[in-house]
Amino acid sequence: PTMAHSQALLVLENFIGGKFVPCSSYIDSYNPSTGDIYCRVPDSGKEEVEAAVKAAKDAFPIWSSKSTLERSQILNKLADLIEHDLEAFAQAESKDQGKTITFARTVDIPRAVHNFRFFASSILHHVTECTEMPSMGCVHYTSRAPVGVAGLISPWNLPLYLLTWKIAPAIACGNTVVAKPSEMTSVTAWMMCKLLEKAGVPPGVVNVVFGTGAKAGEALVCHPDVPLISFTGSTLTAQRITERSAPHCKRLSLELGGKNPAIIFDDADLSQCIPTTVRSSFANQGEICLCTSRIFVQRGIYSEFLKRFVAEAKKWKTGNPSDPTVNVGALISKEHLEKVRNYVKKAQAEGARVLCGEGVDPLALQPGNQKGYFMLPTVITEVKDESCCMQEEIFGPVTCVVAFDTEEEVIKRANGVKYGLAATVWSGNVGRIHRVAHRLQSGLVWTNCWLVRDLNLPFGGMKASGIGREGAKDSYEFFTEVKTITIKH
Ligand code: NAD
Repeated sequence: PTMAHSQALLVLENFIGGKFVPCSSYIDSYNPSTGDIYCRVPDSGKEEVEAAVKAAKDAFPIWSSKSTLERSQILNKLADLIEHDLEAFAQAESKDQGKTITFARTVDIPRAVHNFRFFASSILHHVTECTEMPSMGCVHYTSRAPVGVAGLISPWNLPLYLLTWKIAPAIACGNTVVAKPSEMTSVTAWMMCKLLEKAGVPPGVVNVVFGTGAKAGEALVCHPDVPLISFTGSTLTAQRITERSAPHCKRLSLELGGKNPAIIFDDADLSQCIPTTVRSSFANQGEICLCTSRIFVQRGIYSEFLKRFVAEAKKWKTGNPSDPTVNVGALISKEHLEKVRNYVKKAQAEGARVLCGEGVDPLALQPGNQKGYFMLPTVITEVKDESCCMQEEIFGPVTCVVAFDTEEEVIKRANGVKYGLAATVWSGNVGRIHRVAHRLQSGLVWTNCWLVRDLNLPFGGMKASGIGREGAKDSYEFFTEVKTITIKH
């Protein structure tokens, strides 16, 4: 890869105790749509994490003693400031991550703004519990208090969206935080730091330490003064975090990968189902933990579905993410692109058929994007349930379509993976939808839609897809410690 000579490199700094501080070493960060190095990210380690935790600890007494209303107002102000710069944030997210400008403008940044507004509001509405015990002359009530310094670790696929989904509830509850975004997508977190002072966030309440998982991430996970870790990322990293944090008995929230099924019954409204399932398979280059990657279609409509689905997938335009008409941008890295391509090759070697995309259709890229990490939406069929493409999270624009006969059979097959994050069910039969939804091992079940979220309700996965839930009440419970107080008169 070559350097982007025409422009000076963007150099990020850690944000500790309300100040930007340079780091002694840096990591190169690539623009996925050109393959150029365009940014340098601090390669923080123990020392930087130590300073950030200290700043967060120092800020805790003041922040945690502010009224909920004061904190709420600050969160709202921060939301307004990010929204004011929405276009600049969207451009930066698209450049850093490879996602289309349209997706960054309509999904990532608006959701980051909404995360702050949502928790600014929801934090005002929690009530604690109270019970009476007249025979003993007692009342019992619960009280909730912030825990302390929260460690927040986020992935590269929805950078600011997922980081703010953690920062907002953590600070709304009165904790202070040390956040570590993915080393591959650090720019928008750094941009957000520039707005904190203006929003009224006191120094030390939000600290951001940039760097790799192995160095900066582990230093945070192992720090004795960080009692809770909220992590979103892969199942493998979650295992490591669980091991490393175990000696400290930390509270963990783990939002992990998925191998999400779509179940399409023969009475589904295909005019809705097909475009939505193309979107659920390929949105954000398939780099969303909630993306569909196993499509089970009832035998009677299988051929028709396949024909129409492939035709729709082929309409998706792949290329320069800053072109607003493009649907599929660049994958995050060269290594990731190779990994995703290898899954397609393995499927072919096993005798599966690739109906469109990788290796089948030509990929025409503009001159500036020739070295970018692009891949066409790819549809695989005639693939066995045991195949790695049907079992492992690919996290790219690849989806498998297979046929099924009965409800009983499809539930068993849909549940036949180690993951359990999100499923979609398409049918016009309400009874069937209820039956199937209840039996699916999945933290979320969308019926006749996809990615429609009410942040009030729990979000999270079963099995290898995670531990814990996030949402209005769930995040409040995670980021606070509850106490039961008994008063005898
Ligand atoms: P990853 O696990 O490689 O990295 C996630 C974060 O953890 C990064 O910030 C990374 O630097 C850090 N990290 C890595 N090793 C670490 C360690 N030993 N200690 C502490 N931190 C460490 O995941 P990724 O490749 O960035 O993201 C893709 C994965 O995230 C996919 O599996 C995807 O399904 C999952 N994901 C899940 C959700 C969800 O809400 N369930 C949402 C988005 C992404």
